[in-house]
Amino acid sequence: MSHKTPESTDGMKFRPAGRSGLSLPALSLGLWQNFGDSTPYAVQRELVLHAYERGVVHFDLANNYGPPPGSAEAGFGRVLASDLRGHRDELLLSTKAGYRMGPGPYGEGGSRKYLLSSLDASLRRLGVEHVDVFYSHRYDPTTPLTETIGALATAVTSGRARYAAISSYSARRTAQALEIAADLGLPLVLHQPSYSILNRWIEEPGTDGRTLLDVAGDSGTGLVVFSPLAQGMLTDRYLDGVPDDSRAARGVSLRPEFLSPENLARVRALHEIASGRGESLPQMALAWTLRDPRVTSVLVGARTTAQLDENLRALEAAPFSPAELAAIDAVSLE
Ligand code: NDP
Repeated sequence: MSHKTPESTDGMKFRPAGRSGLSLPALSLGLWQNFGDSTPYAVQRELVLHAYERGVVHFDLANNYGPPPGSAEAGFGRVLASDLRGHRDELLLSTKAGYRMGPGPYGEGGSRKYLLSSLDASLRRLGVEHVDVFYSHRYDPTTPLTETIGALATAVTSGRARYAAISSYSARRTAQALEIAADLGLPLVLHQPSYSILNRWIEEPGTDGRTLLDVAGDSGTGLVVFSPLAQGMLTDRYLDGVPDDSRAARGVSLRPEFLSPENLARVRALHEIASGRGESLPQMALAWTLRDPRVTSVLVGARTTAQLDENLRALEAAPFSPAELAAIDAVSLE
């Protein structure tokens, strides 16, 4: 397969990561599912190369992505060592540590020991000397936050990561993390929370009255939002039952209770609003997450290149009218 080189980003919109010098493609590809050893290597390779050729140069990984854990990084590393050899500096690679990766007390959490050992293992699997972004994947209440953020600072100063970031921290914990990081002279350039029309927690005030959007916006931290299609619910996949090849049929992360009659009624109503805009539901749902400039990039999953192409059409979507936004609110906030 031949590749376009830096011109491959033609047509892709890039957005700044908060007030940092880093920019991200408006749409990024996540390798949480569809990229482990349970997916044929040829399929993983095709998806990664197709994304790259469409200007989706940010690939989001974590130590535990698979199954089995680690295999998504290994599969990506194989593409990087072959088809994408020589293109490392055109790519933005992120990985994370926080969830269960190995047995015992050093196999998950936010300790310095786990985070830095895990990062070293990620670098080996990916076959790179550094990642661009290293995330604390979740807040760990059993580790002092100073230790977790200190480990992120070491990841950067030791050259293993270019930037540090956090994921799924509440607004209050994010504010604390930012304060600690500022004392260390460490910018936290990105925060990765879940966000979709069906999951609007980042807009809700936390215990100190501030939303995560506010905390991130005020501090100049960009948001990279995950599961923007609610794992596939914000598409037409489930309007007539559960397809055999769907995530819900696999039953691991998209649990049957999410496909409640109430949620499916919401999806149908949103489908109508999207049709009124001349768009598909995924196209509208992704464009909706990007309507706020504090969102740097929308992080999609895709099982096929056709899904990815469909999702990229979101970047051509028309701006939302106040009436359309109100109609979406009426469905999602009811
Ligand atoms: P999405 O909400 O985009 O869901 C992806 C799934 O939706 C696909 O696997 C596919 O499901 C379906 N889909 C995608 N596009 C289409 C389309 N155009 N038409 C129909 N169906 C479609 O995101 P994910 O939940 O996969 O999350 C995205 C990324 O976010 C992850 O890969 C990961 O990098 C990151 N993430 C981070 C987390 C964190 O804690 N920081 C947690 C979760 C995710 P199907 O297989 O059924 O076809």
